[in-house]
Amino acid sequence: LARDRGGNQVALYESSIDHTASRRLDVEQALRRALERDEFVLFYQPIHNIADGSLKGVEALVRWIRPEHGMVPPDEFIPVAERTGLIVPLGAWVLDEALRQLSVWTRSGSVPADFHVSVNLSPVQLSDPTLVDTIKRALAEHHLEASHLTLEMTETALIEDRSRMQKTVTALAEAGASLSIDDFGTGYSSLAYLRYLPAKELKVDRSFVAGLTTNPRDAALVAAVIGLAHEFGMICVAEGVETAEQLERLRHLGCDLAQGYFLGRPVPADELTQAWQVQRDNTSPEPR
Ligand code: C2E
Ligand code: MG
Ligand code: MG
Ligand code: MG
Repeated sequence: LARDRGGNQVALYESSIDHTASRRLDVEQALRRALERDEFVLFYQPIHNIADGSLKGVEALVRWIRPEHGMVPPDEFIPVAERTGLIVPLGAWVLDEALRQLSVWTRSGSVPADFHVSVNLSPVQLSDPTLVDTIKRALAEHHLEASHLTLEMTETALIEDRSRMQKTVTALAEAGASLSIDDFGTGYSSLAYLRYLPAKELKVDRSFVAGLTTNPRDAALVAAVIGLAHEFGMICVAEGVETAEQLERLRHLGCDLAQGYFLGRPVPADELTQAWQVQRDNTSPEPR
């Protein structure tokens, strides 16, 4: 009897492995189809200047509108896309779509002249030798200057060839794009990054911002990261600002830019266009 049970357990164990593997394959195949069927959309989250409240730019954040599943957040499919290499065509789509939207906003005068769009790059994209050309081509196609593009990057264990990545990153900076170190202070973005990335911007991870007004250690960390950014001649951006108190504290600490639910959640482009229009209508004098 005991042996029978043992046998069953082994069978159960194996079938659960099969299950995970086949689910992964499911997601992979669904992702492949999603690319062909155009099931991705970009949401945009505003980034504001803390000192005067002005709009500096937006971060583009991908979502997958999966039929019969609804909206899938990036944390659930970006890792699969990275493992399978699908992040390369997906990332190219994200870049093209974000720049297309930026050119619409620019041409309609919806955004200030120095407006930036920030796009997240996976480390897997950074080790793809065609990335620089993909970006240059997308900029040219939409008649945009590279100075309007910020590329956010994090570190990963996936990358073995750091020198190739560094070459790509340097070429991107030379092409005129701004580099931003995302999630700084977490395991994904370490101090070592500061040594070899010609970055213009440091984003304080939102886990530190979360404790800013309640935990003195988090407050000290945020202050240190802001100081570090400025020491390196970089702009500091706080992510995940959810309260007025956090924003006030960041202002007091001299942080440059802020992004978070308190200032605006990520939304489809049309929603932002409308919100900006309403703001302009309210601030410009009534026509006579
Ligand atoms: P991230 O680049 O650090 O993006 C910021 C994340 O924080 C976004 O999650 C955003 O919705 C969320 N967030 C912003 N403000 C707040 C706040 O006040 N409170 C809280 N709790 N969260 C806030 P999202 O959109 O789910 O994206 C998660 C991650 O997925 C991103 O983190 C980024 O690493 C990755 N990702 C998103 N879009 C892309 C993409 O197009 N390409 C690549 N490679 N990665 C992407
Ligand atoms: Mg980001
Ligand atoms: Mg981040
Ligand atoms: Mg992140």
